[in-house]
Amino acid sequence: MNRRDFLKSIGILSIGISSQLLAGSRPKQPNILLILSDDHSLQTLGAYRSRMQKFIQKHKITPNIDKIAAQGVLFENSFVGNSICGPSRASILTGKHSHINGFRANGDRFNPDQWTVAKELQKANYQTAVIGKWHLASLPTGFDDYEILPGQGLYYNPDFISRGSSKLVQKQGYCSDIIGDMTIEWLDKKRDNSKPFFLCSWHKAPHRTWLPHPRHFNLLDGIDVPEPENLFDDYKGRTSSARRQEMTIRDNINIATDVKVTPPVATSSPEEIRHAAPKTKSQDGTTFEEFKRMTPDQRKAWDEYYVPRNEKFRAQNLKGKDLVRWKYQAYLKDYIKCVKAMDENVGRVMDYLKKNGLENDTIVIYSSDQGFYNGEHGWYDKRWMYEESLRNPLIVKWPKVTRPGARCKEMVQNIDYAPTILEAAGIKVPREVQGKSLLPLLKGKRPKNWRKSILYTYYGRGAHAVTSHRGVRNERYKLIEFHTKGEWEFYDLRKDPLEMNSDYNNPRYEKIISDMKQELKKLMAKYQLRIDPVSNS
Ligand code: CA
Repeated sequence: MNRRDFLKSIGILSIGISSQLLAGSRPKQPNILLILSDDHSLQTLGAYRSRMQKFIQKHKITPNIDKIAAQGVLFENSFVGNSICGPSRASILTGKHSHINGFRANGDRFNPDQWTVAKELQKANYQTAVIGKWHLASLPTGFDDYEILPGQGLYYNPDFISRGSSKLVQKQGYCSDIIGDMTIEWLDKKRDNSKPFFLCSWHKAPHRTWLPHPRHFNLLDGIDVPEPENLFDDYKGRTSSARRQEMTIRDNINIATDVKVTPPVATSSPEEIRHAAPKTKSQDGTTFEEFKRMTPDQRKAWDEYYVPRNEKFRAQNLKGKDLVRWKYQAYLKDYIKCVKAMDENVGRVMDYLKKNGLENDTIVIYSSDQGFYNGEHGWYDKRWMYEESLRNPLIVKWPKVTRPGARCKEMVQNIDYAPTILEAAGIKVPREVQGKSLLPLLKGKRPKNWRKSILYTYYGRGAHAVTSHRGVRNERYKLIEFHTKGEWEFYDLRKDPLEMNSDYNNPRYEKIISDMKQELKKLMAKYQLRIDPVSNS
């Protein structure tokens, strides 16, 4: 009896079993750990060249993420397709731009029935889990386990929703530590040793309203964070959209909730908050919900740090640029402290992988859902196609595949993560996925036909009064169309890297602008983005 007859005789040539046999003959599938943070800028990540790189390195803010970069590939030109939390996550899961996966803006609901990378991995024998911030309105599908924050979640003693339970369960502690603990606990107790895993460890930090852990309150005491040279941008070099936004540190950051200049006697009374900050709009009450959640010890530590700081601030009676500078320092120091706690927890998870023999079989991806303004253009927040929020960090470590300390200059986007993960796992990428696998780049190759430009879309829904826009960026130039207003901006990034003066009306660039318009049209057709401005506004 030959092998085929033998298998036939015991009924093993059924489709299911033969595919398992085939799977057994494939090279071992790697584990995949996707660590995603929320709003982490390149400026506050030590491994990235930026205006604050030396400062961040000197004060050891991100040593653990920097270590992943030293062991893997850092993508110097990584961009998002739509710079906002939910849409970026939806693009990561689907490998598709917002207009295809349907999640255009926060407030939308992710269609849980659509194809995702998690579902495909699950079908291919992967054990899948997501822990931390989800923010897609519908509950996760394609994950064997999940423990997620409802909505934005809280920093102090937050609630979580777990698979199989409709109840919110409050966990004691600080959000980044809890997500670190839960990630390690999943690896330790829930992991099925017979399967490869796809584990998403998705942090809330350093999202607004930037509440640090008490162990970091005094970090950066007496130290000034470097100021960006365009902190006092007057927006004169751009169209009406940049002038009419509501995201400046000067006028829009909330002095109570964002900058923590809380009333002398802490309270959650809206009247007192208004009294403390008469000229600010209350956009987010998170801080005060957080106060209700704090334990007496947490609250005591909070008051010991912020109350004297606020007394000193009031006594100074700052005005004008001095007040902006003070708010800039206060905001950014809290933001950096939140990055620090998140980085510490990335380090703990990396240590666990190493100590438990998982390091060599695990691809580690570190990314953030977008970049962020740390005072550049006078702003906080994201949304715009300008560099600080268009770019996001992307670092990938795959032992024996990625060269330690490698840097990749090719243009990549968050739609590329899903196909990359699938190809790394030896799974065919469905045709409808719009991103491209980064596998050749991870292996240090430079494919000749790699993309030379990227498409960007933002759907304005009122938040921070940022107008809808779309655009194209290549290695050197950027064209932005505020299509609902009929306004355009153009930048030669080599000449004007801070994007202070649009050259859209500069005759010197006429031909290049015309070519960029063609390129935008081409990309819109390629990615099936309809030209009708109304449907995309
Ligand atoms: Ca975000």
